[in-house]
Amino acid sequence: MAELIDGKQLAKTINARTQQAVTQLKAQGISPKLIVIIVGDDQASQIYVRNKHRKAKQLGIISETRQLPEETSQAELLEIIDQYNHDDTVHGLMVQSPLPPQIDEDAITRAISPAKDADGFNPVNVGNLYSNSPLNFPVSCTPKGIMTMLAAYQVKLAGANAVIVGRSNIVGRPMAALLLNASATVTVVHSHTKNMQAYTREADILIVATGIAHLIKGEDIKPGATVIDVGMNRDEDGKLTGDVDFDSAESVAGKITPVPGGVGPMTIATLLQQTVELAKWSE
Ligand code: NAD
Repeated sequence: MAELIDGKQLAKTINARTQQAVTQLKAQGISPKLIVIIVGDDQASQIYVRNKHRKAKQLGIISETRQLPEETSQAELLEIIDQYNHDDTVHGLMVQSPLPPQIDEDAITRAISPAKDADGFNPVNVGNLYSNSPLNFPVSCTPKGIMTMLAAYQVKLAGANAVIVGRSNIVGRPMAALLLNASATVTVVHSHTKNMQAYTREADILIVATGIAHLIKGEDIKPGATVIDVGMNRDEDGKLTGDVDFDSAESVAGKITPVPGGVGPMTIATLLQQTVELAKWSE
């Protein structure tokens, strides 16, 4: 049976460290502050942002949600972002997806100051990541949180065969860069890949982020591999389930994340950790 990678427990440890860092920064006169902008009233976004806000407050981070109406124009949103970019009391800024169709997501990502980019999506930060820059810069929170998990569970990265299923800008691509920077041998497979299982079966570290429930089965996994399941899908009975078929995978894998309680809690913990890092780096 695989060892369970307990994201919920690890998130608590990370949050405790973040809380300590906030106390230290406050003693130096810096109060870390995060602004989350939501446009429209997408229900999932509302719940997700509420959770971030609640957790941020618990850790002593000043957190504000800026709710804008569905009909907000791109120019209006850019103007608001510009105001926060120039507000020295704000350290982290993010715009929640999805955005209404009149707003170009790429333009918004580019407008957020790289120094306040809590999500790490600005192309300047993506470029820093891909060039393995020695500077301090923010990184997409889900893959950054996965790196924290791999380190906490002493998963060897240098020389490991890492296979990532999915190539999104939020998960797959930054995950590939982080693992490459850690000297893993990285393969990214996706919806156009032929015979995907030939790759997944060779993976010492298998990271799955597709949004397709139960895509990866036990037979697709190398015995003893570390399996990280990023997927968040709803079963017919409404239960949250991952992209990995947990029941068949857990008897093959060496280590595995559950859904829920794996990657999910680490993403919010990493966002708040990163907000405090941005505050520290702004000194
Ligand atoms: P996305 O839709 O942007 O990308 C999905 C990727 O999967 C694409 O690159 C596509 O090529 C690939 N793919 C689709 N079908 C495939 C197939 N049959 N075989 C191989 N690859 C295939 O999704 P995303 O934003 O990366 O999210 C993926 C999943 O992870 C979703 O379930 C999402 O809800 C979840 N997610 C969870 C967290 C978290 O914090 N737990 C964070 C981000 C995303």
